[in-house]
Amino acid sequence: TPGVKPLIAGNWKMHGTLAEAAALAGAVRDGAGGLPADLLVCPTFLHVAQVAATLAGSAVAVGGQDCHPAAKGAHTGDVAAPMLKDAGAGFVILGHSERRTDHAETDAAVRAKAEAAAAAGLVPIVCVGETEAERLAGRAEAVVERQLAESLPDGFAGIIAYEPVWAIGTGRTPTEADIAAIHGTIRARLAARFGAAGQGMRILYGGSMKPGNAKAILALPNVDGGLVGGASLVAEDFLAIARAA
Ligand code: PEP
Repeated sequence: TPGVKPLIAGNWKMHGTLAEAAALAGAVRDGAGGLPADLLVCPTFLHVAQVAATLAGSAVAVGGQDCHPAAKGAHTGDVAAPMLKDAGAGFVILGHSERRTDHAETDAAVRAKAEAAAAAGLVPIVCVGETEAERLAGRAEAVVERQLAESLPDGFAGIIAYEPVWAIGTGRTPTEADIAAIHGTIRARLAARFGAAGQGMRILYGGSMKPGNAKAILALPNVDGGLVGGASLVAEDFLAIARAA
């Protein structure tokens, strides 16, 4: 998108020791100079503070992988958005398909989390995407439009990640034409609801992005970066994707 710097975001999921996370962050930091994209890494909650310390003063940002809709309270095992902010995060991934599946997160829950994130000064990255059955039934665009309508709060000022569920961790991706089509639909919905802010909102692609396919995907219209799972765990692969932006 003209005037929008791409963002390459790494979703480290539930991987690694504290020492491994710090080492990976250090390797990303050391390779981050002169890239055409902004960089973000999202470790597990337990590693956010250490990774933020490793990346302090660098251009690489840190994010969480979820937050609770409340700012504090009696919610055993949960993490509040202000806690993430306090630990050094600037972003938070919300509504990832693994959260929607593993924790039955609804669009309404994602919306509440996005409001909490914004209130805490975090940039929410809201994930949307159809299952394989929904795509085969010709419902991919309708599903994504519903997720956008119901997961984004009014006044949303964040990032969208389009992640077809069947492409996550599978080595499969949609065709370039299919990615361009659905990103175009997402852009139209964002522009209709948020005006100029929606025109300039980053829309990331996620799902089996690798150094070998990143250049073609990142060149598509309305693809403003990537959300990278598996390949983000290898610093050289993650940086190669960022160089392709
Ligand atoms: C993800 O889960 O956000 C993701 C894109 O995973 P992968 O790159 O491993 O498909």
